[in-house]
Amino acid sequence: MKESASTFIAKSTVKAADLEHRRKINFNIGKYNATVPQGKQQFADVMLARERAKNAKWRAIENLDAYLEEFEKKITARGAKVIWAETAEEALEEIGNICKEKNCKTLVKSKSMVTEEIHLNHHLEKMGIESVETDLGEYIQQLDGEPPYHIVTPAMHKSKEDVAKLFADKLGAEPGLTPEQLTLFARNKLREKYVQAEVGVTGANFIIADVGGIAVTENEGNARLSCAFPKTHIVVVGIEKVIPYLNNLDLFWPLLATYGTGQRITVYNTVVMGPRQQNEIDGPEDMYVILLDNGRTNLLANAKTREALYCIRCGACLNACPVYKNIGGHAYDTTYSGPIGSVITPHLKDMGEYKHLSYASSLCGNCTEVCAVKINLHELLLENRHEAVAQGESTAAERIAWKVWKKASLTRSMMNMGSGGLKNWVVNKVFKGWTMHRSDLNFSKKTFNEMWKEQEEKN
Ligand code: SF4
Repeated sequence: MKESASTFIAKSTVKAADLEHRRKINFNIGKYNATVPQGKQQFADVMLARERAKNAKWRAIENLDAYLEEFEKKITARGAKVIWAETAEEALEEIGNICKEKNCKTLVKSKSMVTEEIHLNHHLEKMGIESVETDLGEYIQQLDGEPPYHIVTPAMHKSKEDVAKLFADKLGAEPGLTPEQLTLFARNKLREKYVQAEVGVTGANFIIADVGGIAVTENEGNARLSCAFPKTHIVVVGIEKVIPYLNNLDLFWPLLATYGTGQRITVYNTVVMGPRQQNEIDGPEDMYVILLDNGRTNLLANAKTREALYCIRCGACLNACPVYKNIGGHAYDTTYSGPIGSVITPHLKDMGEYKHLSYASSLCGNCTEVCAVKINLHELLLENRHEAVAQGESTAAERIAWKVWKKASLTRSMMNMGSGGLKNWVVNKVFKGWTMHRSDLNFSKKTFNEMWKEQEEKN
């Protein structure tokens, strides 16, 4: 077993037995579950809205090259610079170069999973640049030295008491502050940083092709401050975030808000179409957009897994997943956790190293059921398993076991062989790999044939 797989199993085993962790997660997901139905009421036909969103993303991904080039042309005409980065290393190098050129000492950053993916903070730290997370949840995680726990709510696993203790320990805040006091405390700290920072970094929820803009959705206003206060604004965004038209946002903004947090619309929705223009009084002097591939074209290359690129990172599939709800976001040890993380990580990173994630699912289909853009997530998990086997990522013992199982299942005489007890012994003791993390299989004492005959005799 690969090290990443055994780490995953070890971490999941510990977390699944941690009842306090489960209590916090159930509490927070319970609040989410209570608000989502209210958000859905804004749609006359929510299924139709999801279908339309899926169609818009289908169009965008099928014509990805053309839409990205259209975006580049339009935003470049308004003074922004577009940089294409094939890998995380390339993106980091480009960001590093910009920071050096701008003599950057302090950088403010809004929440962005893609910057987590490329480990931007770590890179900046090595360069001696202070990178400050400005989203409250991310700020909490940064203080605690932890990566985000969830793609929408980074500190979902922490209670208000945990955060109060963290602020007291790390920032010298009064112990036992209320959530309102904690927010105010963080705000005062962060406001100073916006003024000091030479560079602001944001992600983007959408790349809008027809107008050449990026759309950012947030609840705290910190992303607006991060892109408007510093003289330089860097956007780091995955190439799959493209949508064809500005007016597609009338569908995507409410869907993202409702499926992300249960809101009808998120508090701040901003479209940025370049740096400050001549007739404008504020905004950055320079704007760079880094379009990141980093394995996304691997997903694009496969006509089936391509669908995973429709994801708008609402997080609904994480909240619905029985596995995620028990093991939490950190057990995955990946940037993207939950069902969507299990689908895309093997393609973004390495199939052999991360194929175990495709098995971290009961295949109940709840993720597919709740997905804002109707991605067939559970089928893509099966597709990943198939791809892993096709690429030779299975052990000889596994291949033999499945061959024997298939042969036996398709041959009545073999199915009738031996007693239930003997079958239990063979499956539970000989093929120990199956029962190592599962309860024992329990075969019926009588075979199906025997039961059928008895039934016939009774009739
Ligand atoms: S896969 Fe669907 S449900 Fe999961 S985060 Fe993406 S859009 Fe949301």
